[in-house]
Amino acid sequence: MRDTVLVVGAGPTGLSAAAGLAAVGKKVVLVEKENILGGAPIISGYARLVPSGEWAKDAIGRMVSRVEASPAVTIHKNAKVARVDGEAGRFTAALTTGETVSAGAIILGTGFTHFDSINKPEWGFGTFEDVVTTTQVEQMVAAGRIACPSDGRVPERVAILLCVGSRDRQIGREWCSKICCTVSTNLAMEIKELSPRTDVFIYYMDIRTFGLYEDKFYWKSQEEFKTKFVKARIAEVTRAPDGRLLLKGEDTLVKRPIVIPMDLVVHAIGMDPNLENPQIAKVFGVGLERHGFLDRGEHYTNTLSSTRRGIYVGGAALGPEDIDSSVSQGLAMALRAVGDLGALEHQAA
Ligand SMILES: Cc1cc2nc3c(=O)[nH]c(=O)nc-3n(C[C@H](O)[C@H](O)[C@H](O)COP(=O)(O)OP(=O)(O)OC[C@H]3O[C@@H](n4cnc5c(N)ncnc54)[C@H](O)[C@@H]3O)c2cc1C
Ligand code: SF4
Repeated sequence: MRDTVLVVGAGPTGLSAAAGLAAVGKKVVLVEKENILGGAPIISGYARLVPSGEWAKDAIGRMVSRVEASPAVTIHKNAKVARVDGEAGRFTAALTTGETVSAGAIILGTGFTHFDSINKPEWGFGTFEDVVTTTQVEQMVAAGRIACPSDGRVPERVAILLCVGSRDRQIGREWCSKICCTVSTNLAMEIKELSPRTDVFIYYMDIRTFGLYEDKFYWKSQEEFKTKFVKARIAEVTRAPDGRLLLKGEDTLVKRPIVIPMDLVVHAIGMDPNLENPQIAKVFGVGLERHGFLDRGEHYTNTLSSTRRGIYVGGAALGPEDIDSSVSQGLAMALRAVGDLGALEHQAA
């Protein structure tokens, strides 16, 4: 039993943990609720990833192939864990498929849920067909054509609204989703590549293109691709008499009201806690932090442990996270699990 680790969720975090465990000789049982592996970048059809510029299907596809090719990994798709008994070193998990898994440790890489823009009705999603989300535009980029869903025309003017479902106390989302500024500046360039005549505007509160890549995204988007950045508070998206969309709000730099026609409005949606987290917390006996993400045991010396011994949590299950960090956290959890299982073995000897 101590030679096996149960990994739940096959996104970047879970795939990285599974590959790390297999590399050091552990057996892995990987449980994924969907019928495909790869997590959000594959399920939602992301285009080119930031900061690498690699297509998601290639980059994450490589992670999937490595795990699928490993004889040490048993994969259960369309499956969830329904019940967990036991303790660190000897857990028994009942799957929804009726199978039972015995494992010494459990790794949770259960990720996040994309913010549902319906919860921001004043910005037109669900009312106007030409109000879409970044994931929809990623799919358009992957398919090689930017178009207004209402009639298929190539948009002349595109507005990307940042912080949709993030940094918004009115709707209980007090966190910054960390990745959407960089994703949006990149998306603006991709739109321009596909349609050089299209003008792209980014409406922002602050720009947070974190890390080493401000030049590759923020400045490049502005200087080479002529993306226009407008610091603004958007009040609503309505329809003009000619059928185009109208963006209404205030330019907060010059403190003047704005009413601007657009063909396509894109919500840069944030990362919500996995909608299933209350259920996951119950089944695995782990805690939630106050926003609804899974909680960690402690920072620094016990980081990536959940609040229950022998169960580890990492990646976007802990809060908004990018892929690089999720992959690193998957590996770190694998190391923690192997080390803790070794210590239990030692005690038992
Ligand atoms: C619009 C958008 C674009 C983005 N683009 C980028 C980018 O270009 N570069 C970048 O670095 N990051 C990007 N991100 C962030 C990226 O999506 C995350 O960093 C990454 O997906 C986190 O991986 P994860 O494995 O922790 O979670 P996820 O990708 O959410 O994977 C979790 C997996 O667990 C499964 N699961 C969930 N619950 C259960 C359960 N109960 N039982 C079994 N399985 C379960 C899910 O089906 C899924 O397969 C973007 C985010 C958004 C919102
Ligand atoms: S990363 Fe940018 S768009 Fe995303 S929530 Fe933070 S500030 Fe807003």
